[in-house]
Amino acid sequence: MKYCVGCGKELVDEAVVCTQCGRSVPSLKEPTEKDSGGFLWGLLGFFIPMAGLILYLVWKDTLPKRAKAVGKGALVSTILGIVFFILYLVFFFSVFFYAMSQSM
Ligand SMILES: [Zn+2]
Repeated sequence: MKYCVGCGKELVDEAVVCTQCGRSVPSLKEPTEKDSGGFLWGLLGFFIPMAGLILYLVWKDTLPKRAKAVGKGALVSTILGIVFFILYLVFFFSVFFYAMSQSM
């Protein structure tokens, strides 16, 4: 709950204007410091997972949304890396065993 700065009427948190006097009220949800999740931060974490991990630890407390975005990118990148590594191994061994079976 918040209150209109003009007339003091009780307003819902989502309200942008006062229902009684029509005055615009600042949104509570908007943090004073710029903390946006941001697709670009996710991309940064994705392409440079090491930097993503470090930035996540640095921003964890001060910029949680941004930390989450960059951390998520790093996580996705790491998971994809492991998946591709396994696929590569499977591919490599299937070719290897196929070649072995052919030579016998
Ligand atoms: Zn008001």
